[in-house]
Amino acid sequence: MMVLTKKMIEIRSMLQKVGQSSSLTLPSIVVIGSQSSGKSSVLEAIVGHEFLPKGSNMVTRRPIELTLVNTPASEDEYGEFPDLGLRRISDFSSIQRTLTELNMAVSDADCVSDDPIHLTIYSPNVPDLSLIDLPGYIQVVGQNQPLQLKQKISELCDKYIQPPNVILAISAADVDLANSTALRASRRVDPRGERTIGVVTKMDLVDPTRGAAILNDRQYPLRLGYVGVVSKAPSSQGLFKMGPANLMSSIAKHENSYFSSHPLEFGPDAGVNVGTITLRKKLMHVLEQTMSSSLQSTSDAIRQELEEATYEFKVQYNDRPLSAESYLAESLDAFKHSFKQFTEEFGRPQMRELLKSELDQKVLDLLAARYWNKPITDLSQAQVEPDHISDLPKAEASSLYWHRQLDASASALTKLGVGRLATTVVSSSLQDHVDQLLNNSNFATHPFARQAILEAASTILNERFYSTSDQVENCIKPFKFEIDIEEREWAQGRQHVGDVLKKELQDCEAALSGLESSIGGRRKLKEVMTFVDKARKGDIVVEGDGRSGAGGFSAALLAKGREAVFLRDRADIIKMRLMAVRSKQCASVKNKYYCPEVFLDSAASKLASTAVLFINVELLSEFYYNFPRELDLRLGRHLTEEEVERFAKEDPKIRRHLEVIRRKELLELVLEKMDSLKQLEGRERERLTDG
Ligand code: GDP
Repeated sequence: MMVLTKKMIEIRSMLQKVGQSSSLTLPSIVVIGSQSSGKSSVLEAIVGHEFLPKGSNMVTRRPIELTLVNTPASEDEYGEFPDLGLRRISDFSSIQRTLTELNMAVSDADCVSDDPIHLTIYSPNVPDLSLIDLPGYIQVVGQNQPLQLKQKISELCDKYIQPPNVILAISAADVDLANSTALRASRRVDPRGERTIGVVTKMDLVDPTRGAAILNDRQYPLRLGYVGVVSKAPSSQGLFKMGPANLMSSIAKHENSYFSSHPLEFGPDAGVNVGTITLRKKLMHVLEQTMSSSLQSTSDAIRQELEEATYEFKVQYNDRPLSAESYLAESLDAFKHSFKQFTEEFGRPQMRELLKSELDQKVLDLLAARYWNKPITDLSQAQVEPDHISDLPKAEASSLYWHRQLDASASALTKLGVGRLATTVVSSSLQDHVDQLLNNSNFATHPFARQAILEAASTILNERFYSTSDQVENCIKPFKFEIDIEEREWAQGRQHVGDVLKKELQDCEAALSGLESSIGGRRKLKEVMTFVDKARKGDIVVEGDGRSGAGGFSAALLAKGREAVFLRDRADIIKMRLMAVRSKQCASVKNKYYCPEVFLDSAASKLASTAVLFINVELLSEFYYNFPRELDLRLGRHLTEEEVERFAKEDPKIRRHLEVIRRKELLELVLEKMDSLKQLEGRERERLTDG
């Protein structure tokens, strides 16, 4: 018959994974008793090992769901905490430590928690049993303990002692049964005493006649009866020097000799049940009976649950199969595919355009610093000093001054660190694109994978960064000495810089009108600007440090006025230079000193093209080659099953989908096992009736 219990316990463990619905579980034996009633000693005597937390400070704070698995074929004895992934712990003191830690993790303020600890013990010396140890009932609440603790413990126990569970009510012989908290609790939920086994501990502490009388109790009759035990070794034996195994066998011997030395009270003819071995047998028998009788109702509940899961799978997920691995593989493939597409669209021309527009800004800055920073006066007036911007078109072709200006500008452009700039621009654009691809992929909802992919990209790019930027810097070196521009290049530059200036002009004007509306109208802005202009020319004296207001304008208003004046002047200069660039004078490279804008633009184009040539080889091709491989490495084969699972479940939709499938599969498996179990049971019954 025992095969049945083993299988039922197996099914019970599987059902625990399905979820906590009370109709979906097979019964277990729930152990209750007051603190110090000897509850732990009884459980340890059944298991044959000392493994439960010890101490006076409420050491059992969480339910311990203990599954005992009889392994007749093996000598090994060990425990496992499936929830913690702790396997094959053969040192029982280590199990004891883990249990103590798990219990003590519940704070003193809470003191008890209904979150169960699952522990499975495998041994040839244990019976197949499923037991639940609960915090002991307390009489008085101790210091530092919550006032409602008594209540909390009692509620927790009540939750577990519901049918169809069997109640193992522990009472000590030296306390009047009428005062047994365990028996009182059991009576509340099992008034007719049909599923309660009474255990009377510490039989050695009372007179044998009295002990026997307790076991024959008629006041609290229990259909499953009482069993008397002694589960402590006599203290005279120097227990500290004894190994755990010896301790257990010494307890067993002591119990045995105690009961056999009182044959009149406890002998075979006395009509009472005593001894841990008797208790074990009773537990096995009762559990098997109880489990078999709830087999039908449990399997009905499972069938119903399975129908619901099947329905949900059909309606919500269209019966679409899915596994964490297949989801990851598909997501990765799709992502790699989108990356491949991107690589076809992002090459040299795109990099060149990126870099060129970055250099355009640098060129504008250079022009502003070297050419456009001088105050302009009336453009029609001829100026004396040669470094005036409005003189530029009239400059002598041989003027050394303008030669030096252009050479210095070109030198500043080539020496601004093009290698680093170009590499940075391309790298960060690649990072941005990867980010965008991620946003449009399955990975958008997976922080873990997202992170891994972004890291894959930045690792490759960072690895190549310095060598690439060095290479690029090296190959633009010749331009630091001489920049040769052909007429064709000049014409392109002239066209392009015209567009850049036009755009810059638009930006200036947009900023101006932005200021206008922020100030509250054109007239107001004009007034401030006129004031700033006058102050600048020295026509009026602005008192104070200029930070506080002046001329009836607040400091903030003046700051905006100054900004507006700057923008207006810049717009004026750009307009003028735009005209110059478009004029005949700038039509040929021969006049390059008159047209620094065109020259610098053409130079920037050369720099960009050369830089891109090398970035393409050093960075882009490498990235395109290595990135998909790096993805495989980080998200492919070497992820553990748990990691893949965790990844997939990051997306709540996928999580639900996977859970429905898993639930369905588990329920199907359980049901199959239950059906074969019922068949086995039927055959067993036939065999028994035949025999
Ligand atoms: P729990 O708090 O209900 O788990 O009780 P324990 O198993 O820790 O036992 C409480 C105390 O009673 C301990 O000091 C045990 O050694 C002692 N004890 C337990 N069983 C017996 C027994 O059968 N006889 C005697 N004399 N003492 C026992």
